[in-house]
Amino acid sequence: MELTIAVLLPDVLGTYSDAGNAVILAERARRRGIATQVCTVTIADAPPRSADIYVLGGGEDAAQQAAARWLLRHRMRDELADRHAVLAVCAGFQLLGTTITDRDGRVLEGVGALDVTTSAGPRRAVGEVIASATVSSIGELTGFENHRGHTTLGPGVQPLAVPSRGTGNGTRRHGRPTEGALTPTIVGTYLHGPVLARNPALADHLLGIATGQDLTPLDTPDQQAMRRAYLERRRRPPALRG
Ligand code: GLN
Repeated sequence: MELTIAVLLPDVLGTYSDAGNAVILAERARRRGIATQVCTVTIADAPPRSADIYVLGGGEDAAQQAAARWLLRHRMRDELADRHAVLAVCAGFQLLGTTITDRDGRVLEGVGALDVTTSAGPRRAVGEVIASATVSSIGELTGFENHRGHTTLGPGVQPLAVPSRGTGNGTRRHGRPTEGALTPTIVGTYLHGPVLARNPALADHLLGIATGQDLTPLDTPDQQAMRRAYLERRRRPPALRG
């Protein structure tokens, strides 16, 4: 088996090095004896139609508009909707949805692969996030958010997680805050990091979708203990200075 991982538009959706997510996917696949090919698709390129995993990152508003035009011009809806595994971070997550409305009420059309809409929130959400995934195998997630958009999930879209720190989507489901979106093929999230470097179980979730296999656990008990200690430190509010 060889998995193709397509990194879409790292030249415009690359503010936070979200392309590093592909490095994590490839390495965790390699450690399980699964070969990968990572292809980088810039705004000057045409997208591959049958990658096993598509990876999109975050970016500023102007970059996001350019990415939207590219996704629509190349009619990427079907590829990103339910045929292949997709990881979409922040601006990339918003672009999978139907519309993104800015502070002045201008509407940017998304690719419509995911039933979510985004509108400018009252203030920018910036800082660390801790969120408990709605799927137990993914566990607790950490990441860094920096976005103005607040995202509302359609009724059939499950949140990826419930944040206990930070903003995430900035909208609620059944009274609880939500972060990201999860469908059988899509992981959408506001978490930068790159998110898969900080959350290996999320990388394994995507590899599981792409391979259709239950993957063998990789991390040693020492690595798991280190991660628990890291999460414990992150859970504490930052110390006040001065
Ligand atoms: N420009 C978008 C927003 O502010 C996405 C930002 C990002 O990708 N970090 O909502």
